Amino acid sequence: MSFDTLGLSAGLLRAISEQGYTEPTPVQRRAIPVILDGKDILAGAQTGTGKTAGFTLPLLQRLSASPTKKGRRPVRALVLTPTRELAAQVEDSVKTYGRHLPLQSAVIFGGVKINPQIEKLRRGVDILVATPGRLLDHAGQRTVDLSQVEILVLDEADRMLDMGFIHDIRRVLALLPGNGARQNLLFSATFSSEIKQLADRLLNRPVLIEVARRNTTAELIQQVVHPVDKRRKRELLSHLIGSRNWRQVLVFTRTKHAANRLAQQLDKDGLSAAAIHGNKSQGARTRALAGFKSGKLRVLVATDIAARGLDIDQLPHVVNYELPNVPEDYVHRIGRTGRAGNEGEAMSLVCVDEHKLLRDIERLLKREIPKVVLEGYAPDPAIRAEPIQNGRNGAGRSGGHKHVRRKSSDSRSQPQHRHPRPGQGRKRAVQA
Ligand code: AMP
Repeated sequence: MSFDTLGLSAGLLRAISEQGYTEPTPVQRRAIPVILDGKDILAGAQTGTGKTAGFTLPLLQRLSASPTKKGRRPVRALVLTPTRELAAQVEDSVKTYGRHLPLQSAVIFGGVKINPQIEKLRRGVDILVATPGRLLDHAGQRTVDLSQVEILVLDEADRMLDMGFIHDIRRVLALLPGNGARQNLLFSATFSSEIKQLADRLLNRPVLIEVARRNTTAELIQQVVHPVDKRRKRELLSHLIGSRNWRQVLVFTRTKHAANRLAQQLDKDGLSAAAIHGNKSQGARTRALAGFKSGKLRVLVATDIAARGLDIDQLPHVVNYELPNVPEDYVHRIGRTGRAGNEGEAMSLVCVDEHKLLRDIERLLKREIPKVVLEGYAPDPAIRAEPIQNGRNGAGRSGGHKHVRRKSSDSRSQPQHRHPRPGQGRKRAVQA
């Protein structure tokens, strides 16, 4: 199926083909005609599915089809996102796909000067992409008028609620024209009861669109767990990056402090690395991301919130240096790789403290993630008393860990992983 059949205008089709896209992704196939039809949607789609183009393309078309009133340009489409990075990326997409259309867009978020944003808004903006906090600052100063918004998009709504934005969202909704007067598009990777409540309030007979979760169906992401002692994680990570010659790896930690420390240690190990998290200035975050995308930085260490919505084309490796506290975050994290048809690898370095988190993740995924003990990095047997993987891990060859050999005799009740994946080199695959 090609983009031609979706009802998009020539200017948009041209921009799409300039991007090199040949066919729409499932969420685009389903969402574009419905949005062009003026209907509300409730879409379950993660980052990496092509959802941004899925709402941006029809939104651009609808706005360009109805002429702007003469004089001041009111904001006609508002896209709310949870993070600055996602806001910046969405606006990039608006600019890219709308490059042949006479529409103006702007992005506003906190952490940067407000005056250039005010100036931009004053000159007139058709499509505004914003994070809720800074948008409300503008509304408070009356530097933005949202009374003419025709299309509202809540992108990554689950994350906005996780980040405590529900009150801000309500305040923004109060500034928009009445519900019947606008089209509402809600995108969320997960559907909690809070999301359903928000959807009930906001959406008018929405069309439900659900596309397959990448982690359960698109087998483009190879997932693996490496059990390892907590204090040897950094050494193992440096070893993996160096010995496998990874050029671009996104690493997740749970805390800002851990992200800083790990980036510094990796740097000392000779691996160019930077950290991004909420305490970094916007300038530092933008620089780190640009360095990482251009290949100057080999490792980007990020917290969940900072990494939310990052779109890095063809990112080959994601490492969970620490598992997330919330299982859904695992899904978001590994969604950074294996995007738009490319293969990716998601690896988790898991110590004994994290077994419960791992079980919660596997429960959410409804499958087990293969466990592979790396030679020389078998976890301490005392710690490993709670079996995360079973025996045949060759630890006898990995420096005489008697305990691990003993462990292998405990493995009878556990099924062996019979088909280690190709290309695992000196790893031996075992599965819980
Ligand atoms: P998103 O889910 O919106 O974050 O998009 C994920 C990635 O897919 C982005 O890098 C897009 O540029 C890319 N993409 C979006 N639509 C298509 C398409 N139809 N064909 C190929 N790549 C696409």
